[in-house]
Amino acid sequence: MPELPEVETVLRGMENALLGKCIKAVKINRYDLRMPLPQDFGQRLTGKSINALERRGKYIIMHIGDNIHVILHLGMSGRVNIFPPNIPYKAQKHDHVVVTMGDGACFAFEDARRFGMVYIAEGSWKLEKRFASMGAEPLDDWSGGELYESLKNKKSPIKSALLDQRVVAGLGNIYVCETLFRALIDPLRLSNSITAKEAGDIVKHSRDILIEAIKAGGSSLKDYKHTDGSLGYFQHSFAVYNREGEKCSNNKCASNISRIVQSGRSTFYCSSCQK
Ligand SMILES: [Zn+2]
Repeated sequence: MPELPEVETVLRGMENALLGKCIKAVKINRYDLRMPLPQDFGQRLTGKSINALERRGKYIIMHIGDNIHVILHLGMSGRVNIFPPNIPYKAQKHDHVVVTMGDGACFAFEDARRFGMVYIAEGSWKLEKRFASMGAEPLDDWSGGELYESLKNKKSPIKSALLDQRVVAGLGNIYVCETLFRALIDPLRLSNSITAKEAGDIVKHSRDILIEAIKAGGSSLKDYKHTDGSLGYFQHSFAVYNREGEKCSNNKCASNISRIVQSGRSTFYCSSCQK
């Protein structure tokens, strides 16, 4: 599932190709998406400009015209494929929404598994429950003190708490595993056992890892691609994720990476380094 670095990379691709441009046509191949599209979806967007794009957690918000906010979530397998004006649109089987801009550029929302979402937020999008309850942005306003406060009464494992978008926005399985390895924290530790210093370490290391991953264009495992079809390469820098049985990357450690299942998700970690 695309996490913060992958969504940020898609956002930057969209900004480069679409910002300030006017929507000429919207073609909808499928209305019955996870959030069903209203019949007038295309009509409401046509003739309006994409004035701003931003990311909140794993969501992209497209600000269109004076007061339309289109929310985009890639789900498990969603992609945004962008074709510049000089390159003809090439349809994919699961292109659900195809938008053509006034200058001939075009973008398609493709989602084979249909866990993704594209919808118009009515009224103020920030007041929607999913955004109103969302935790800090790890690259902006997150602090060790804030994390410590949100963990101190929680009995869930730290791994699960960091996946909770109400605690911190945008992290998923990959970047939580990598963060806990770098912070040397056992993913099984209970949230309320995390000290203020450890909370600070988690914030610092997650920020470092996210910045490195954005520089690498995200991690391409199964479905994720950039808006131009190219791949991210941070998966080559994983210290623990998907590395079960391989030697720990800490030179002084003789252990191999373990995999356990927590809340139905794989956790990869080093049981010697992470305490
Ligand atoms: Zn180790």
